[in-house]
Amino acid sequence: MRTPFVAGNWKMNKTAAEARELVSQLLGPLTDVAGVEKVLCPPFTSLFAVTSMLEGSGIGLGAQNMHWEEKGAFTGEVSPGMVKELCGYVIIGHSERRTYFGETDATVNKKLHAALKHDLTPIVCVGETLEEYESGRTSEVVLRQITLGLADVAPANAARIVVAYEPVWAIGTGKASSGENANFVHGQVIRPALSRLFGEETAQAMRILYGGSVTAANASEFFQQPEIDGALVGGASLKAGEFVAIVRAAVK
Ligand code: PEP
Repeated sequence: MRTPFVAGNWKMNKTAAEARELVSQLLGPLTDVAGVEKVLCPPFTSLFAVTSMLEGSGIGLGAQNMHWEEKGAFTGEVSPGMVKELCGYVIIGHSERRTYFGETDATVNKKLHAALKHDLTPIVCVGETLEEYESGRTSEVVLRQITLGLADVAPANAARIVVAYEPVWAIGTGKASSGENANFVHGQVIRPALSRLFGEETAQAMRILYGGSVTAANASEFFQQPEIDGALVGGASLKAGEFVAIVRAAVK
């Protein structure tokens, strides 16, 4: 039995003051929801601002990215150790980072190893573009991203990894995948690939989230699918009422 997992990716939204305001709206209602692992991923500049607010709430804090090196001349980057001071989680390989910032399966893999070394729970994003989807290449692309992105991880460490299947054509577009389509990719492509990498028992323990235009209105369509273990939520995580409703919908 996999514990449902819902994370909010705030992307480049909310100043520190606005982040504190949103967290104060989320705190009570989210703390009351049991049986779901809940994580908020504000921008770097707001992590410190909200960390003490989340203490003892059962709500985790995550970064949206990090570098894989420990320290050094990498202007503008943030190291795994810096993230670990404030966070328990980190998003790796989001499609916006792959598209706009040149991230590849190879850099995803380096970041994943760094996250595991620092005892962070990585949320690794995979997903095909619209062109790849329309040309029937979803399985091939997702399989490649999983195989290369999650390469060389010891099975004992893999169970902690959370995978988020986020078809790029569904992110921020208001055009979510159908629950059935996402369930197919999770159950027929991603989990079998995880099984080949880490063994069936570990693959069965790993959470696979869906992401892409999840809202309070469509969340249960995804959560009722057997292979969908939660959601990575972008736009809807910026509205307290919407995000709380999505987390509630994830309760088994
Ligand atoms: C995301 O940023 O990971 C995401 C899924 O965005 P949205 O929910 O806005 O589509």
